[in-house]
Amino acid sequence: MKIRILGCGSSSGVPVICKGWGKCDPNNEKNRRTRSGILIQKDDKTLLIDAPQELRLQLLKAGTKKIDSVLYTHAHADHILGTEDLRGFTFKSGKPLDIYTDQGTMQTLHRLFSYTFSPYSDDTRWLLHLMPHIIQPFKPFTTNGIEILPIKHPHGPNFSSLGYRIGDFSYNTDLSDITPEAFEALLGVKTLVLDCKGKKKSINNHLTLEKALYWIDKLQVERAYLTHMGYKMDYDTLVKELPSHIRPAYDGMEFEV
Ligand SMILES: [Zn+2]
Ligand SMILES: [Zn+2]
Repeated sequence: MKIRILGCGSSSGVPVICKGWGKCDPNNEKNRRTRSGILIQKDDKTLLIDAPQELRLQLLKAGTKKIDSVLYTHAHADHILGTEDLRGFTFKSGKPLDIYTDQGTMQTLHRLFSYTFSPYSDDTRWLLHLMPHIIQPFKPFTTNGIEILPIKHPHGPNFSSLGYRIGDFSYNTDLSDITPEAFEALLGVKTLVLDCKGKKKSINNHLTLEKALYWIDKLQVERAYLTHMGYKMDYDTLVKELPSHIRPAYDGMEFEV
């Protein structure tokens, strides 16, 4: 299976409008971060997790010609507002695109993109057409022959997100902690992509670096990549500070699992 990090920035991306590069070195391209999402390639199937605002640019850069399913983690703007950029795929395939998420996120998608949920017809083939599938946390489901386990995480005090596990790989962004149930679901994962917004202790809706390192250690994964990073997370500084099996992600990064 091949993973591509489409984007690994926090909700504002890096650099941040009106604030700039923060502690990030502007001369290092690995610090230029679009909003977070990944592509998963397994055999001839391509899965997308989340549709960030820069999805069009990210997919053009990746050279993506086909997407078979989309999994959404949650309904925050930086994970869903690129949805309209999926139109090219349904226009090309001539059928609706399967999307998977929990009920709350699906309701928001329906509210924002209601026209995409209407039945496919030849008269509307240039519009985006989505085929919704509501999934339950911790209940495995299969799409395109790939079994996926959704893992529910708290995302601040009043919100939640879904991580996704496929075999011994798991992608988990936008979480503030790992519950015992989620921990159990993550046991045995060898390659983990994990939320890590910054170092500030006051961050309460994401994992801090300290918390991310704690959970990576507890889960004893072979490799971990940090994502959803803010403008105080300089790439080279992190590489120097972190043990060699933990790396900050960067936009366009690819690895096999
Ligand atoms: Zn986010
Ligand atoms: Zn979020």
